[in-house]
Amino acid sequence: AAKEDGRNSYRIYSADLHQHTQERAGLALELRHALERGELALHYQAKVALDNDEVVGVEALLRWHHPERGDISPVQFIPIAEDNGLIIPIGEWVMETACQQLVAWQAQGLPPLALAVNLSPRQFNHPDLHKHISDVLARTDFAANLLELEITESLVMQNPERAIELMTQIKRMGVRFAIDDFGTGYSSLGQLRHYPIDTLKIDRAFIRDLASSKEDQAISKAIISMGKTLGLTVVAEGVENARQLAFLRDNYCDQIQGFFYHRPCCADEFVSWYRATGFPANVIST
Ligand code: C2E
Ligand code: MG
Ligand code: MG
Ligand code: MG
Repeated sequence: AAKEDGRNSYRIYSADLHQHTQERAGLALELRHALERGELALHYQAKVALDNDEVVGVEALLRWHHPERGDISPVQFIPIAEDNGLIIPIGEWVMETACQQLVAWQAQGLPPLALAVNLSPRQFNHPDLHKHISDVLARTDFAANLLELEITESLVMQNPERAIELMTQIKRMGVRFAIDDFGTGYSSLGQLRHYPIDTLKIDRAFIRDLASSKEDQAISKAIISMGKTLGLTVVAEGVENARQLAFLRDNYCDQIQGFFYHRPCCADEFVSWYRATGFPANVIST
């Protein structure tokens, strides 16, 4: 019976896998058209500085509104775009659209906000990255020193010499770098000190149970203090409640991002939220 069970579960497993593979292939095809058909959009989420409770910037987050399947998460389609190379034109669209949006917000009277854009490995490894960034900055007239590129620790660890050289070149334009999801990879801050990074984003996984987990408290505290010792701006992502916020504030984390302030939203909604909240952000006085 055990043998039969095993075979059955294998069959089920392979049927699932087959379906999964087909679904992925389907999405890959549709993603090709998504850009042209205007199905991609950007959402924005505020970064709030804890010393004065001001919104200092936003992170641009990609969204795919599929006509039949509905909204598809970037967690699902970014890896597909990364595999088939579509991440290159999509990533260019993201950077250009986001820079344009921030320039437009300034024209509407918002203060100059910093813009964080995520870069996946294939984008970071693309030989034209430097040129592409300088072209976008020139075309949109967005200030280079307001642009921050978010990359992961595992990415820069793959080829340290190249990463450091590339980052140094790009930084000459004034652009900054952040390490996203910090703490989930295998690097230490000791290794990261060799990289020309400006910002460290503590992964959401350490923030989730911050109110109750002594371990997560210790880890977050250590990341904040070591990051600051290295002269980095430390940002906590995934802040959802006042207790997490209080802990981060008490431990001098520089900035936070999270549903506690607002969920990432489209450009118009962001402006309404920003104006309604009034800044310094009065939502925080809880
Ligand atoms: P990320 O860069 O670490 O982005 C943060 C993710 O956390 C976003 O998910 C955001 O919606 C979510 N988040 C923010 N605050 C909270 C909170 O308080 N609680 C919880 N549970 N989640 C929160 P999203 O938008 O689904 O993006 C997922 C990932 O997809 C991003 O992680 C990033 O790695 C990737 N991604 C998104 N947009 C782009 C893009 O334009 N280019 C590339 N290459 N990757 C992107
Ligand atoms: Mg990010
Ligand atoms: Mg992150
Ligand atoms: Mg992430």
